[in-house]
Amino acid sequence: SLGTPLHIGNATKTLTANNGIAIPATDGTEADPLLHNAVTALQTAKSRGHSTYQYYSGSMNVSIAARVTLEQDLRAALTANQFVLYYQPQVDILSETVIGVEALIRWLHPTRGVVSPAEFIPVAEEEGLIVQLSEWVIKDASQQQKAWRNSGLPPFPISINLSGLHFRQRNLVHQISSIVHENGGDPRYLELELTEGVLMTDASTTVATLKQLKESGFRLAIDDFGTGYSSLAYLQRFPIDTLKIDRAFVKDIKLGKIDSPITRAIIGMGRALKLHVVAEGVETRDQLAFLRMQGCASYQGFLFSKPVPPNQLLPLLRNHLPQSTPKSA
Ligand code: C2E
Ligand code: MG
Ligand code: MG
Repeated sequence: SLGTPLHIGNATKTLTANNGIAIPATDGTEADPLLHNAVTALQTAKSRGHSTYQYYSGSMNVSIAARVTLEQDLRAALTANQFVLYYQPQVDILSETVIGVEALIRWLHPTRGVVSPAEFIPVAEEEGLIVQLSEWVIKDASQQQKAWRNSGLPPFPISINLSGLHFRQRNLVHQISSIVHENGGDPRYLELELTEGVLMTDASTTVATLKQLKESGFRLAIDDFGTGYSSLAYLQRFPIDTLKIDRAFVKDIKLGKIDSPITRAIIGMGRALKLHVVAEGVETRDQLAFLRMQGCASYQGFLFSKPVPPNQLLPLLRNHLPQSTPKSA
C-alpha cells in the first residue's frame, strides 16, 4: 500500500518503509522488550536497504552488544582525537606522475589498533556523529594541504569523501568553505567525492548544491561509479569534474582472458562527457595495461601505493609530483 505513488500537485512521490518484526511469546511477553526487539530487527532491516523487513532473532543481540561498545568508543574517540588521515596517490596513467591524493580516514583504536572506515562510518552516520567526523576530516586535510604547500611542494588536489548525510546538511557549502579557509586550505585543490547513490537521491536539489560548491571553488567527483543507478540525463547536468570507476569493475580485468566491457564503456562515457576518469583499486600490471589501452586518464590502487600516513607519502610526492600538476584547477 505504501508503494502506491502519491500525486501531490504536479509531483509524484513514493513512500518506502522498513519493518522490524518481533513475535509475542517467542520474542518477549511484555510490551517493552517486544518493542525493543522489533527495533533491533528494524536496524538490521535498515542496513539491508529500502523497503525490506526482518524478523527478530536472538543472535542480533550479540552484534548489538558489540555495536553498543563501538558507539561508545566512537564518541570517546572524537573527544580523544584518535583519528588520522591516510593518503593514497592518484596517478597519471601515461606519465606515472602523482596528480592528486585521496584522504582516507583511519581510527587508531587504543586496544583494537587501526579500524577501517567501512566499519565505523556507517555507525557514525546512524548515530549522528558523521557531520562532526566529516568536519574533522576537512579541517585536517586543509591543515595538511597548508603544511605541504609550506614545505615547498607544488599544489595538487586532495580528494575528500563526503557522506550523504553531511551533503544534505542545510548550510553545507558555507560550513565547509569556512573550515577550509580557517585552516589554510585552498578549495581549488580540494575535490569532494560523492557516491552515485547520494547524488541521484533528490537529484534536482543535488544540482543546486553542487553548483554552489563549484562556485565556492571546489572540485567534484563521483565515487564508486557504476555500482548505483545513475540517470544519464542528470549526469550531464551535474557540474562534476571526475568520474571514479568502482573497483568491482577493475577487479575483473585480466589481460587476454576477460574483457571488461563496462569499464570500457565508463571510460568512453567519461571521455565523451569531458570528465577526468580515475580507475579505483588497480592491483596488477595487466589491469593497468588494459586501462591504458582504453584511454583511461589515471588510476589509484595498491599497485602504485596503499593509503599511507603523511610521513610515508612525502617521499612518494617528492619523487613523483610533476612540476605543475595537469589536474590543477
Ligand atoms: P572509497 O572512497 O571508494 O575509497 C577507496 C577504498 O579502496 C579505500 O578503502 C582504499 O584503501 C581501498 N583501495 C584502494 N586501492 C585498492 C586496491 O588496489 N585494492 C583494494 N582491495 N582496495 C583498495 P578504505 O580506506 O577502507 O575506505 C573505505 C571507504 O570508506 C571509502 O571508499 C569511503 O567510502 C569511506 N571513507 C573513507 N574515509 C572517509 C572519510 O573521511 N569520510 C567518509 N564519509 N567516508 C570515508
Ligand atoms: Mg573515495
Ligand atoms: Mg571509491
